[in-house]
Amino acid sequence: MFRLFLSYALRKNLEYLKGTLSAQDQALVSLMLIQPEEQLQLAQPYKQEDCLLWERPIINFDGSAGLCCAVYDYQYNIADNFLDVSHTELDARKKTHQMCKICMNKGLHQVAVGAARSELDIIIQNSKVEKIG
Ligand code: SF4
Repeated sequence: MFRLFLSYALRKNLEYLKGTLSAQDQALVSLMLIQPEEQLQLAQPYKQEDCLLWERPIINFDGSAGLCCAVYDYQYNIADNFLDVSHTELDARKKTHQMCKICMNKGLHQVAVGAARSELDIIIQNSKVEKIG
């Protein structure tokens, strides 16, 4: 099965959907193989399911713990040093994080690694890549 890496900055996706993305970033989005609206549509049937990324710790090069692999800004980190916080507490910080609530409310967590992602791969394989050759 063909698998394309989906570069996915969640905050930018949310800004796009809110209509607050900069003109420069909108120009970049217009070049994307899968538009944010398509991602949102695919995610809706699965949006009530938990996020699989909660089970995957993200440790940055400096030892800080990131929220997930789709959120890069340090302002959303869940710990300055992962060694200072228990695994249970790190999990709890993710599950109650405001960004996770917003993300799950839209269903976008399912585009990152959930069922919608599998559908996305099939769409990419069957139609999108054929069009660009
Ligand atoms: S709910 Fe969204 S922001 Fe939170 S860990 Fe999952 S993909 Fe990341």
